[in-house]
Amino acid sequence: MGKVRVLKIVGITAVSILLLIIDINLPLGLAIGISYVLIVLLGWFLNNVKAPIYLAILSSFLTFIGFQFSFKVESHLWIIITNRILTIISIWVVGILLYKIKLKTNKVKKVNHELDVKLTQLRIKNEQLEQFSFIASHDLQEPLRTIISFVKLLEKENNFDSESRKYIKFISESTNRMTDLISSLLEYSKIGANPELKLIDCSSLMSDVVHDIDSKIQAYDAEIAYEKLPKLFGYEIELRQLFQNLISNAIKFSKKEEKPKIVVRSSKKDNHWLFSVSDNGIGIERKYFEKIFSVFQRLHAKNEYEGTGIGLSNCLKIIQLHKGEIWVESKAGEGSTFYFTINQSI
Ligand code: ADP
Repeated sequence: MGKVRVLKIVGITAVSILLLIIDINLPLGLAIGISYVLIVLLGWFLNNVKAPIYLAILSSFLTFIGFQFSFKVESHLWIIITNRILTIISIWVVGILLYKIKLKTNKVKKVNHELDVKLTQLRIKNEQLEQFSFIASHDLQEPLRTIISFVKLLEKENNFDSESRKYIKFISESTNRMTDLISSLLEYSKIGANPELKLIDCSSLMSDVVHDIDSKIQAYDAEIAYEKLPKLFGYEIELRQLFQNLISNAIKFSKKEEKPKIVVRSSKKDNHWLFSVSDNGIGIERKYFEKIFSVFQRLHAKNEYEGTGIGLSNCLKIIQLHKGEIWVESKAGEGSTFYFTINQSI
């Protein structure tokens, strides 16, 4: 038995004896009865779920012993009996209630513990999966480079007929695509590997992003507007990538007949910042709102809009790193707004 547990039991026994001595020697009536309830309440501090019931039995027993001596100090029998009956009722009401509360609390504790264990298992599995995708994509690059070098050699050969040249071209295109996919998977697995938390000025981060993608902005004749954005705690490299992905997508998925107009907004909500990136582009059907955040999920053929389908998965991972949420609201043909939150208690 643990030392603390022994101390608790000794304490409760001492309180019980003290109350019994007072009960026997003083005519306190109902006041002493209520004090017996106190013994039951002390059961809260014992680990045993049934402790309040055991203490209710002990308190009832003490009440009965006290009753034997009450005649010496009190005169009216009906008062004595009423006091004792009320005491026993109070003891058992409190005892049963406390037992039920302890039972519920124990269940909640058990569920919480199971949840903690599951969460740890999930975290480990997630780390293993990330390690796996890193190793797989990293190691796949090497044989792929060899294939690309040999395909290049084949392309230089003059001995092939036009049919064979067509096949070599297919192989070359597929290997290039595979290189893109593998490097984006590698990039995805590296997100948050060495994050550095610091105070970031989102306005200057945005102007850096706009500067970085200037050629794309010029090519599409895009307009990008943003109000004064906040200074917040976050991971700079990752946040920069997030803004860049969302704005690049907003430009890329614009309507052919309209020049892209993008607005970035922010507002403070409790302990997080809410951002939105709105565009006047092609929009997204509601049924794809979740799917687009999965790895390699695209809604268009590569010849329509270039890309690998990893951009929004990166965004989701970056937002998870910031303990926030990301979602989209859109209507096909009427533009999209991507929302995300950045928690400030990370
Ligand atoms: P990628 O841009 O390489 O295709 P993403 O993961 O960034 O991959 O996006 C997944 C899909 O979500 C895109 O293929 C596109 O169909 C859709 N999407 C993303 N952003 C927008 C947007 N601003 N407007 C319309 N569709 C979008």
